[in-house]
Amino acid sequence: MKVHNAEIVISAVSPKQYPETDLPEIALAGRSNVGKSSFINTLIQRKNLARTSSKPGKTQTLNFYLIEDTLHFVDVPGYGYAKVSKSERAKWGQMIETYLTQREQLRAVVSLVDLRHAPSQEDIQMYQFLKYYDLPVIVVATKADKIPRGKWNKHESVIKKALDFDKSDTFIIFSSVTKEGKEEAWQAIEQAIK
Ligand code: GDP
Repeated sequence: MKVHNAEIVISAVSPKQYPETDLPEIALAGRSNVGKSSFINTLIQRKNLARTSSKPGKTQTLNFYLIEDTLHFVDVPGYGYAKVSKSERAKWGQMIETYLTQREQLRAVVSLVDLRHAPSQEDIQMYQFLKYYDLPVIVVATKADKIPRGKWNKHESVIKKALDFDKSDTFIIFSSVTKEGKEEAWQAIEQAIK
């Protein structure tokens, strides 16, 4: 998809605030700093619509972006901040759980992991949670430019094994620096919203 129009529609904390449309939605989840904002900005060809390197402690909201009047990207706040209090974490968990389990037009979840490392416990939990609810997942392994191409396969295998990756899901090796995987990511998203 060539994107010319992308705009933030709302930062929501509760279902009442979700946009009242039936446009298909693609959620994006990943631990803080994994490269989620960079992924979104690469796909929509913007330098900084989705904020990069969001700071801990900022309001934890679900950010809905309208893309070409045909779908919403729903940016789920990053997990894995040690500094966030237990009660904040519980609130965060509830907010995303409500969204992911109850939103009818949610078609797939882009789950971002870092290609360089084995998935964290939280990455694994997130993936298992999505599989439990039968949500199609597009695993995007970021920062591919930081390791040599010859090692990509090995890293992909490590990640798939740790996640207990479901063969019906899609796995994409991605870099916002080289744009590797951008077309593949769009293809997977377009397939999911068909
Ligand atoms: P977010 O917290 O998940 O939204 O992550 P950001 O998109 O803000 O990225 C976190 C940091 O990783 C920033 O310093 C980015 O410049 C860097 N980064 C993100 N994606 C890539 C990538 O594909 N390659 C490299 N080399 N750095 C990246």
